[in-house]
Amino acid sequence: AVAKKDSYAVTLLPGDGIGPEITAATKQVVQALATRCNFRIEWKEALIGGAAIDAKNDPFPQESLEQCLASDSVLLACIGGYKWDKNPRELRPETGLLKMRKEMGLFANLRPAKVLPQLIDASTLKREIVEGVDVMVVRELTGDVYFGTPKGIDIVNGQRVGYNNMIYSESEIDRIARVAGDVASKRGGKLCSVDKANVLDVSQLWRDVVTDVITKDFPDVQLSHMYVDNAAMQLIRWPKQFDTIVCGNIFGDILSDEASMLVGSLGMLPSASIGESGPGVFEPCHGSAPDIAGQDKANPLAMILSAAMMLQYDLDRPEEAALLEKAVEAALDAGVRTPDLKQENDGCKVVGCAEMGEIVAKLVAEID
Ligand code: ATP
Ligand code: MG
Repeated sequence: AVAKKDSYAVTLLPGDGIGPEITAATKQVVQALATRCNFRIEWKEALIGGAAIDAKNDPFPQESLEQCLASDSVLLACIGGYKWDKNPRELRPETGLLKMRKEMGLFANLRPAKVLPQLIDASTLKREIVEGVDVMVVRELTGDVYFGTPKGIDIVNGQRVGYNNMIYSESEIDRIARVAGDVASKRGGKLCSVDKANVLDVSQLWRDVVTDVITKDFPDVQLSHMYVDNAAMQLIRWPKQFDTIVCGNIFGDILSDEASMLVGSLGMLPSASIGESGPGVFEPCHGSAPDIAGQDKANPLAMILSAAMMLQYDLDRPEEAALLEKAVEAALDAGVRTPDLKQENDGCKVVGCAEMGEIVAKLVAEID
């Protein structure tokens, strides 16, 4: 085996709102992990989103892109806020995010929804339904109806007609199927491909290509197919039937938000966006939470768990990733909660963002 690297360049994008607070907590935790496990991280900050608009009049400046591409990995907090909502489209924070994904070739978005035993009651669903749920949604990120052309609003026979195109090429389906096959084989070995092949031609191609890739190159993965309407229902009815789900951009957008509700709090959900090669971007699923920014109330765990995904997918450190997840669970076991996780009369202690970071950092250095 090749010796592991012992030093990594990681670009930090603190972004907007609660971004700087959760970034500081995450950095502290990963730093404690690196010290314990004898590797080094060279942290470099860069601008994205509203922060970049304010400083450089550009939501994702060229220098940020170059720095991301030159890193081993990128850790992003969150972007956006009321302040920039009325800007023209090219000066909105979200435009910077889309540009980053496109320029870095990040075509696969991985969103795990894992219900932790300590937080079962945070879900609005019944205990027996969510207990033990561990689903990974692999969403295609750079194709589908969001990018298909032609698109627009035309006048036809005196009225406006709007249209977008759901388009997938064979090669686009092939590469996301390979990511999903790989992810599924390293998890529970079950892959459910979601489409609407009973109605849509593009879905029939999706189904054919996914079947080809998985049966030929991932023979140990057990593949099934499901129509998206049924999948939406099954996710709530009995989520434990799923291990890994793969789907196109728009179905994945909807299903991954639905799956996130199984877990309870937005503050617990990490994500990874990866491409064929080069650095990936790891970020919490939540937004910049402007309503609680600057008040030390944010939950940093989604970003800390995103750092665990970074260790697993980009830095080739699966054991360290597992240790980080274990430290997060140990903090919850100890009864510490940020305000978003607090249940009534649960006897837990409410802490701020910074204190949660300190506690997890201490645990990551000490637990066995
Ligand atoms: P975006 O459009 O960027 O996804 P959003 O409009 O979906 O953003 P969020 O910023 O994710 O909204 O916030 C939704 C709600 O969840 C807010 O009330 C926010 O305070 C809360 N929230 C989001 N993230 C966290 C977190 N890490 N810790 C605590 N509360 C959070
Ligand atoms: Mg949102």
